[in-house]
Amino acid sequence: MDNQYDLIVIGGGSGGLACSQRAAEYGARALLIESDRLGGTCVNVGCVPKKVMWYAAQLAEARHDSPEYGFESAPASHDWGQLVERREAYITRLNGIYAQNLAKRKVEHASGRGQLLGGGRVRIAAANGERVVSAAHIVIATGSTPSRPTIPGAELGLDSDGFFALTARPQQVTIVGSGYIAVEMAGIFLALGTRVTLVIRQDSVLRHFDAMLGEALLKVLRDSGAEVVTNAIPRALKRDAAGALQLDLEDGRSLPAGDALFWAVGRHGNTAGLGVEAAGLRADAEGHLGVDAWQQTSVPGLYAIGDVTGAAQLTPVAIAAGRRLSDRLFGGMKDRKLDYDNIPTVIFSHPPIGTVGLSEAEARSRFGEAVKIYSAGFTPMYHALTRRKVRAQMKLVTVGAEERVVGVHVIGAGADEMLQGFAVAVKMGARKRDFDDTVAIHPTSAEELVTMR
Ligand SMILES: Cc1cc2nc3c(=O)[nH]c(=O)nc-3n(C[C@H](O)[C@H](O)[C@H](O)COP(=O)(O)OP(=O)(O)OC[C@H]3O[C@@H](n4cnc5c(N)ncnc54)[C@H](O)[C@@H]3O)c2cc1C
Repeated sequence: MDNQYDLIVIGGGSGGLACSQRAAEYGARALLIESDRLGGTCVNVGCVPKKVMWYAAQLAEARHDSPEYGFESAPASHDWGQLVERREAYITRLNGIYAQNLAKRKVEHASGRGQLLGGGRVRIAAANGERVVSAAHIVIATGSTPSRPTIPGAELGLDSDGFFALTARPQQVTIVGSGYIAVEMAGIFLALGTRVTLVIRQDSVLRHFDAMLGEALLKVLRDSGAEVVTNAIPRALKRDAAGALQLDLEDGRSLPAGDALFWAVGRHGNTAGLGVEAAGLRADAEGHLGVDAWQQTSVPGLYAIGDVTGAAQLTPVAIAAGRRLSDRLFGGMKDRKLDYDNIPTVIFSHPPIGTVGLSEAEARSRFGEAVKIYSAGFTPMYHALTRRKVRAQMKLVTVGAEERVVGVHVIGAGADEMLQGFAVAVKMGARKRDFDDTVAIHPTSAEELVTMR
């Protein structure tokens, strides 16, 4: 077997698959090393299973509202186990499609664990033995894994991987964390009938986004029945004499944790055991690898893309970084790189959130008095007939006399599908006047974004 390649990619998730296939399209001899299922976090324990659960939760909410639209009410029942079986069958189909795509594009797929040896070499440890391969270009695309606090009993809790492993609906859960994974899990559990306690460090959620979004979502979570414990720092997780889970907090409070406790307290880069030191690199305390704007590490020929870099941990970001890197290395596009500004993102909470650009606080600290805010709050028409009312809120952040739109933030039904087009406008430098000049689509929630005054 010839062990010399043009490109070796370690990690067959969103970024690694995209990077290796793009390189092969240019005729490069590419090898992809993956130690687990193809597709990585997004396909197996991230975006895809999460969105399936989110759809189920949407259906539960629609079913709850349906009598007000003239449907007969029926006793609600839901088979979590059956949903998970169908979801996993779908994921297995996706795993197969990813393998076919690699074969179609002539990317060699090595199943095993990759370890950097330095000098452009990588050891692959597989079930059927070891092999050393080498290439002029090596891309680290090993992703990230859930973090846990370093407190006694942390291992008694689960994480987002554990959420997807559940085969039955728990009656009551505790979720520790205030980021997007925490609020997404909370929304799914609540809609499907699980009681939720959300334990957060400070007094709001989604603190990396515009403050309006977190405040609005926190209200909806409370209105949906979540108990929110604020200013809470976990000290220990334990089982009491009766075997019940209990979470102790630093301030002396102690909370019954229900059937399961989920840590949603961040993720760290997958660099343990990867041989980064042998290759001349050093990961930071969170396991992340530093790269420049070209995804280049400090060692020539070694690159990193996606979650392992710690930057904008999203699937389309990993894909875009991987493709652009191959465009540059093998496609002759010497200036091709990913622009990390204005990356739109959706939080699949209930209701969903769509956000792009600067938050109001970020804009004010950067542009001061030049910032002008437009906002709207309303009850979407869907809820005109329902007893359950979930408000929508929107904000445009503009800068300067020409009112360039530098931030669009939306919480409300449809925000998930609404944002992509508005992100194009922001990326192109649209002004408030361009929004105003766009004829509204009626009746929608999105029309509020082009009719704000
Ligand atoms: C619960 C959850 C929900 C999410 N929802 C969304 C969402 O809605 N939208 C969105 O855009 N993003 C979402 N994400 C984030 C998204 O999944 C990641 O940003 C994306 O998967 C990163 O891609 P990657 O290629 O960097 O890493 P990954 O997809 O994690 O792939 C890394 C791969 O490397 C493999 N690997 C690691 N070490 C080695 C080794 N030494 N040798 C061989 N293989 C190795 C791993 O097995 C893995 O398959 C979500 C994440 C989570 C956890």
